[in-house]
Amino acid sequence: MLPKIKAMFPDFVFSPGDKFSWSPSEGRINYCENNVDGDDGWALLHETGHALLGHTDYQTDYELLQLEIAAWEKAKEIAKQIGLEIAEDHIQECLDSYRDWLYKRSICPGCGTKTIQKDLSNSYSCFNCHTCWQVSPSRFCRAYRTIQTDKEHTFL
Ligand SMILES: [Zn+2]
Ligand SMILES: [Zn+2]
Repeated sequence: MLPKIKAMFPDFVFSPGDKFSWSPSEGRINYCENNVDGDDGWALLHETGHALLGHTDYQTDYELLQLEIAAWEKAKEIAKQIGLEIAEDHIQECLDSYRDWLYKRSICPGCGTKTIQKDLSNSYSCFNCHTCWQVSPSRFCRAYRTIQTDKEHTFL
C-alpha cells in the first residue's frame, strides 16, 4: 500500500517512525514501518486524510475531534480509490479512544469535576474548586502538565 499512496500523493513527505502522525509544519506523514501493510494501513490513509484536508491547527478539543472525523471520511475516499474499504468499527474505535482521551483531560486534577475547556489555549479551569491546568496538544504526552512548551500541533 505504501508505494501506491506515495505515488498518488507525491507532494507529501512520507517518513518511517515509531507512530503514525501528520506534521503540518513539515508536510510530513510519519508511519510505522512494520505495520503499514496490515490494519495499520488504515492509519496511513487516515494521516493522508489530514494531509489532504490541510489540517494545520485546532483551537479546542472539540474542534480536534471534528478534524479527526473529517480525516477518517477522507481516508475512506482514498481507500475507495485503491479498492480498499476501511471497517466502520475500526473508525469508531479510534474515535472512541479520542473521546476517552479528551474526557480524561477535562477532569479537574483538584477535585475530579468534569469541566469544559476554557478557550483557545489548551487550558482548563474548574468552576468547582478553581484549579487551572494545561493539557498537552499531543495525545501520547501526559494528560496534565503545568507549562506548555510544545506549541506545534501534531495530528494522530
Ligand atoms: Zn476542581
Ligand atoms: Zn487523526
